[in-house]
Amino acid sequence: MFIKHDYIYETLENGKNADLSEIKSILQKAGDLKGLSHLEIAKLIQNDSPEANAMLFKTAGEIKKKIYGNRVVIFAPLYVSNFCVNSCTYCGYARGNDFKRRKLTDEEIQEEVKLLESMGHKRIALEVGEDPVNCDIDYVCHAIDTIYATENKNGNIRRINVNIAATTVENYRKVLDKGIGTYILFQETYHQPTYEAVHPKCLKGDYEYHLTAFNRAMEAGIDDVGGGVLFGLADYKFELLGLMLHNEHLEEKFGVGFHTISVPRLQKAEGMELNQFPNIVTDDQFKRIVAIIRLAVPFTGIILSTRESAVMRKEVLNYGVSQVSAGSCTGVGGYKEEAVSGKKVDQFEVADHRSPLEIIKELLKDGFIPSYCTACYRSGRTGDRFMRLAKSGQIHNVCQPNALMTLQEFALDYGDDELKALVEQVLENEVNNIGKENIKELTIGNLDKIRDGERDLFV
Ligand code: SAM
Repeated sequence: MFIKHDYIYETLENGKNADLSEIKSILQKAGDLKGLSHLEIAKLIQNDSPEANAMLFKTAGEIKKKIYGNRVVIFAPLYVSNFCVNSCTYCGYARGNDFKRRKLTDEEIQEEVKLLESMGHKRIALEVGEDPVNCDIDYVCHAIDTIYATENKNGNIRRINVNIAATTVENYRKVLDKGIGTYILFQETYHQPTYEAVHPKCLKGDYEYHLTAFNRAMEAGIDDVGGGVLFGLADYKFELLGLMLHNEHLEEKFGVGFHTISVPRLQKAEGMELNQFPNIVTDDQFKRIVAIIRLAVPFTGIILSTRESAVMRKEVLNYGVSQVSAGSCTGVGGYKEEAVSGKKVDQFEVADHRSPLEIIKELLKDGFIPSYCTACYRSGRTGDRFMRLAKSGQIHNVCQPNALMTLQEFALDYGDDELKALVEQVLENEVNNIGKENIKELTIGNLDKIRDGERDLFV
């Protein structure tokens, strides 16, 4: 077992009471994109003095800029089934919660996808509860086919990341064959006693089976995997080291670690109260978690959802977050219900209720470049091929123009006058920075090629 609990406790103990000069030299090393050792992480996470925090956030911001520039990738979740055989004590879908379960029909999936497309989305995370009978792998595969095949006038969903429960190599092969982007699975907690306590008497309760899911996914040929912790279940310091050990295990065994790390924080959900959970993470702790992940694994994307408020999202974008969801519903059929009746049906509560258009405008005003690019996956830049490009620093040359083109595409298709003016300004500023021809004309001239989803024009 690669999550050695005693080792994590010992490392945290050894990392106590680091002084500011130690913190400074750790941050200097991290600033050179050399990552962090376990002991360095333990030292950073346990020194929360204002001076250490200021230096930590500054370094995280510099690393973020160096690797990701000002780009932020946009996506939305799509829930297609809330059948669930598990009894996770934190989740609204837990089997003990009494509500009418359902999964979407083909027609309903198409309706949801069209609503997502009409918001401008190109990249989604497919979400289901775990139920091998009512929501088996064939249903999931068919849902993927249906989503990719659903078009509205401005094209279709170009990348489906999939968040399904831990399963077999054979099942992972089936979803891989459907052309998925990243396979996402949160460990929820790396702390085994907590894991077992929050997943009582259910399929998901097998800690080792869940922990080794990415090994089976990689064995099946999936080379982009996204990990995460549900912060609030166990001690966040333990979780941070658990995440790193997991990442290193995958790097050692398969040559590539996490493509992304998600940082969901526990929210109120049906059938649970937050005060049942003694390890809730405060806002300040959360910011430091994000910043330390950015330092420790500089080339791994960090994903933030609408579980966080607009204010928190704005702040941690500066410390390392590289992907955000926008306009999300966390219930099955939630987009349609939203459009028709304004009522929300959620797996848990979200905190940022703004529309994608509002979010995109604010990102632009804050100096970010929202990106709808999905070219890496479509051009086969996944797994270690992606990481090699990222580590060489060459990724900018690909991502920046593609981000600008897809932003321009969004503005043309979904923008109002205010957005169009904001995008125009960004394009003018950026064209000189990236030394390419006029992106604006290039985009308009090649809109069909961009939409057909087959190529990225700058590679
Ligand atoms: N059934 C899949 C599995 O077993 O991994 C997918 C899980 S669910 C659709 C997606 C994620 O939502 C979970 O992995 C969990 O981390 C998160 N989640 C569940 N309840 C939550 C809550 N109350 N607050 C925040 N996130 C929650």
